[in-house]
Amino acid sequence: MAEYNADGHELAGGLRYPWPQAQCSGEWREVADGLWWLRMPLPYRLDHINLYLLRHGDGWVVVDTGMNTEQTRAAWEQVFVGLFAGQPVLAVICTHYHSDHAGVAAWLAERYRCPVYMTASEYRSLYVTVPAGQAPGWDFHDFHAKAGFSGEQIDELYRLIQSGHFRPLHFNSYRRLQDGDRLPIGNRQWRVVVGRGHSPEHACLYAEDGSVLIAGDQVLPRITPTVGVHATEPEADPLRDWLASLEHLRRLPDSVLVLPAHERPFYHLHARLDQLQAHHQAQLSRLLASCDEPRSALELMAVLFPKLSGRFDELMALGETLAHANYLMAEGLLVRELHQGRHRYRRGTPGQPAAAPGPTATLTIPGSQPAALQESPCDRQEQQ
Ligand SMILES: [Zn+2]
Repeated sequence: MAEYNADGHELAGGLRYPWPQAQCSGEWREVADGLWWLRMPLPYRLDHINLYLLRHGDGWVVVDTGMNTEQTRAAWEQVFVGLFAGQPVLAVICTHYHSDHAGVAAWLAERYRCPVYMTASEYRSLYVTVPAGQAPGWDFHDFHAKAGFSGEQIDELYRLIQSGHFRPLHFNSYRRLQDGDRLPIGNRQWRVVVGRGHSPEHACLYAEDGSVLIAGDQVLPRITPTVGVHATEPEADPLRDWLASLEHLRRLPDSVLVLPAHERPFYHLHARLDQLQAHHQAQLSRLLASCDEPRSALELMAVLFPKLSGRFDELMALGETLAHANYLMAEGLLVRELHQGRHRYRRGTPGQPAAAPGPTATLTIPGSQPAALQESPCDRQEQQ
């Protein structure tokens, strides 16, 4: 039974939602002066993304674009003649490179001959994240085999991520955003607030009058944004970046209206940051508690994510599991060994520091053991 306050705002899960009813895909709604919320379809169980449209003089600035699908383009055509009434798009801002956000940025930019703004790491990620080629490369294979997948399953995973839906259209130029940049758009001064961990350099837009935060995927209500380690960077420690980014966002006022890329706009930013932090701390504890005996990555994945349906879920869940494992290894609380071609994880020995992935890591060349290099417990080949 939903609870409402005197203004008709729904109260749920420690958050306050000014608009209780979700909009249908393709519909828009003004959520602040000169700022519209547009819902676009996604072909997943998470069936929508929220884009935000900012009026600027006689035109529009678009924040995020939707996935590269016919349905997205058709919904945009309605916006061009409806809300925009023929006025042009002056600029596109992508919070990050993920396909539901940057999917048709190139199409909008081409149509209106307007610039695309995003951070440098996000722009470059558009070009490197999805591996090219008909068959998985050795490193893609190696990463998933060590996690516990069979050769057949790895081929299946590869075909899945090669699917066209995952590929935003490319564009050959962009304008760079950096943390702290200021953007005067419409009647507001916006500040770029960068978050990391979900994607390399995710840009949120904070209105400096304290009224609104366009949060992209950095802060979502109800849903926990994925923080994953994938084949492109097996030793990454994105959870550390993610937790630091939650603290970075905590400097913004709790009273701000948060405009997320999924679900509904909400109030109580700080409560949501607390919840996200608590979620990851609980996952870290759960993972560690199950490592008294050596466990493979897939076994740990089943502990953290007992209900999974389909390979795509598994791909995301594996990435998330490894993000937590790599974090714990960097803390010296978990040790990774290679056993019969698969990684196994077990609790670290108290008092024995573990070499860590991340900026202070000892470089360990697999298979070599020069006397000057200390053995890394993170990647130790177990004696057979
Ligand atoms: Zn995302």
